[in-house]
Amino acid sequence: SRAAATRALAYLEAARAVIHENEAELGRIDAIAGDGDHGVGMRTGIDAACAAADPSVGLSAMLTAAGDAWSEKAGGTSGALWGAMLAAVGRTLDDENVDARDAVAGAARAALDAVTSRGGATVGDKTMVDALDPYVRTLEEHLRVGDAVGAALLAAAGAASTAAEETAALRPKLGRARPLAEKSIGHPDAGATSLALIAIALARTAGQ
Ligand code: ADP
Ligand code: MG
Ligand code: MG
Repeated sequence: SRAAATRALAYLEAARAVIHENEAELGRIDAIAGDGDHGVGMRTGIDAACAAADPSVGLSAMLTAAGDAWSEKAGGTSGALWGAMLAAVGRTLDDENVDARDAVAGAARAALDAVTSRGGATVGDKTMVDALDPYVRTLEEHLRVGDAVGAALLAAAGAASTAAEETAALRPKLGRARPLAEKSIGHPDAGATSLALIAIALARTAGQ
């Protein structure tokens, strides 16, 4: 529905704001062992996604178009994966009779599947999957026991943040950071960090 799409747009805008606030810091983290473009890439992608998001087409079509715009406009690994993630969420959501808890659980699982099927990363490779996997598991667990969506998003954001911080101890096994793996140790993964920031922004939006 249009109302659901308008609500979803507020979440996209919240993600956009937090990425703009942290663009320089994300670039700095990516520069330690990667190429330093993660902040610019995420900002370009979320800007394109928000620009393409038109609530009048409905929730599913809006998010699918936003995801497609993200992967088209943002280069890099994270652009392709975030675009695929958002488009997969769009394709999963049903515009009619959406039960909020079912919709959120299904969307989260679709997001994780999109990233792992495209990127091939598993937990421990020091990628965004290290934050996304505990995010999705925590969200599913809280929704299953009957928590409200807002409470579940908050718990999941906490799990993603902790997991993103814990990537500092890891050695990258995939992506551009791998050749400079030693330099990366002691610093969190850029993609896990941005994912956790977005997770916190989504939870705050739900709590408003
Ligand atoms: P690039 O590495 O192409 O410059 P970005 O800097 O925007 O792209 O994104 C880097 C982030 O992408 C990494 O910090 C990591 O979290 C994530 N990443 C890299 N490879 C993969 C992968 N195969 N699966 C999931 N995430 C990945
Ligand atoms: Mg990079
Ligand atoms: Mg790059």
